[in-house]
Amino acid sequence: MPELPEVETTRRKIAPLLVGRRIEKVETTRPSYFFITPPARLRRSLEGRTVENLVRAGKYLVANLDRGARLLLHLGMTGQIFSSEATSVRLLSATARASLPPEAQQVFEPDEHTHLRFTMEGGGPQIFFRDVRKFGKVQWIEAGEHNLRLDRLGPDALGVTGELLFRASRGRRVAIKSLLLDQSVAAGVGNIYADEALFIAGVRPGRGARRVTRRECEGIATGLRSVLERSIETGGSSISDYVAPDGQDGGYQDERKVYGRTGEACLRCGDAIRRRVIGQRSSHYCARCQR
Ligand SMILES: [Zn+2]
Repeated sequence: MPELPEVETTRRKIAPLLVGRRIEKVETTRPSYFFITPPARLRRSLEGRTVENLVRAGKYLVANLDRGARLLLHLGMTGQIFSSEATSVRLLSATARASLPPEAQQVFEPDEHTHLRFTMEGGGPQIFFRDVRKFGKVQWIEAGEHNLRLDRLGPDALGVTGELLFRASRGRRVAIKSLLLDQSVAAGVGNIYADEALFIAGVRPGRGARRVTRRECEGIATGLRSVLERSIETGGSSISDYVAPDGQDGGYQDERKVYGRTGEACLRCGDAIRRRVIGQRSSHYCARCQR
């Protein structure tokens, strides 16, 4: 599932192809739950608009358009936004991949899962939003219109501080792991990075948030920023179906210390990494290194 680093990686790769340019043509698939705004209205609204900038808010991408309108994009579980110049066999389904000769596996043709297709004025690559499971979202936001999804987001996870976490956790009975995943506390923290940050800070994911000290909150904040920044540097995580917008797979999955390592040896002490479900999300930790 794409998390903050993947969304930020997508933003950095796609922004140069969109920003300052006019959208000439928009092609969509048929209406489905992928489209919060019906596709016909989306096409009508978007064509002719200029993209002024592309920003990230937590795990959302927001294209600010001329005359104050916005386009909200969310990758969901399996969404991929990439340019028509991208090449990766991971863009194809396993069956499609298997039926192709090796040389043809590098070419991507828009398929039934390519729900959005932008052609920009003045040429250049097209931009595709492809999503096999359609848990991704796209929404048109009129100038001046509020948006609940964006309005409820807390400060961005990349700017999170120990002080902010400490204040947010006072009096809270929920597990610290659940608090970290609360998007109104810090926008963009996902399961992988919460687990990794808690390992760095030496705090067990199941501990009550109110029992985490100020100093430990500092450790968690520092850990969070470092794993997120490191993951952005390496192009995002390749876990699940994520593929970077240029078709290159991310590299962070090789650096995970606890996430997805259940039963494997802790890299610090050698004990087996444990897995426990907290707030319906699986959490990975070392019982000896994390208290
Ligand atoms: Zn350990």
